[in-house]
Amino acid sequence: MTNKELKCWVCDSKDFRLIKNSDVVEYLDSNNFAITNFDYGKTGELQRCLNCGFIQCTDLDKVVGFYEDLVDTEYENTRKERKLQEKRLVKFLSKFKREGTLLDIGAGSGIMVEAALEMGYKAEGIEPSKWLQKNAEKLGLPVYQGIFPHPNTPGPYDIITLVDVIEHVTEPGDLLNGISKTLASDGIFILVTPDVNSLAAKIFGYRWWHYRFAHIGYFNKKNLIALLNKTGFEVIKLTRPSWYFTLKYLGIRFLSFFPKFMRFPLPEFLERIIVPVNLRDSILVVCTLKNKNA
Ligand SMILES: [Zn+2]
Repeated sequence: MTNKELKCWVCDSKDFRLIKNSDVVEYLDSNNFAITNFDYGKTGELQRCLNCGFIQCTDLDKVVGFYEDLVDTEYENTRKERKLQEKRLVKFLSKFKREGTLLDIGAGSGIMVEAALEMGYKAEGIEPSKWLQKNAEKLGLPVYQGIFPHPNTPGPYDIITLVDVIEHVTEPGDLLNGISKTLASDGIFILVTPDVNSLAAKIFGYRWWHYRFAHIGYFNKKNLIALLNKTGFEVIKLTRPSWYFTLKYLGIRFLSFFPKFMRFPLPEFLERIIVPVNLRDSILVVCTLKNKNA
């Protein structure tokens, strides 16, 4: 791809610097896009915008197909921990909005939808992966297969959540514009994404767990807020979310940083211990619409 066509998805600047060559060898398939994939540090070609610092991938721009065919059994195996995490997130957002309709975009197998329904929200979700959507359906959760905007979810919604999704999409501004139009005038929007300027990202460099094929846009606090403002949002709260993992899952991930001969089997009881982890390397923002009275 020639850089002539390259335009920053955040600020429209055309000035970029190549910061990382592509690890794509021949072709990619859905496995490279699995949520629990281990290929840390493997990405497409990354270029940094010299104006706003946004990092965008320039050789993987047709990714939707990968998500439709995505099957990730490991993700379903960690449902219990993920549920705790989503419950905590719903509890957090309930401080801003106690009741109403909720749309979770990139809903996976409906874990967030399930947590929100349990807390009394009228929740539904959209998920591109046919396999994950089927899993949600089997559990009786209202998750529709496809991408946003979706004909089944015209809105308006009191709450829209976009958790660990925006780093997967091309033209994130279009997605945010669509969301601001689908949000009720007094609604709230919750977004979570990795922070490429976080300490963990700096320490680990390209071994940081968020550098992966599936992530094609890397935000920092400043350019994320800039894009939100540009698409009609006002950030009313910015924080760092915690995630829940079993000690076994963390142990396996930790060992994956070492060469194979140094890895050892982990005792089974670690599977039963769930701990919150806050590496402070993701950003969680709560937004309202800017011109809600206009
Ligand atoms: Zn930019």
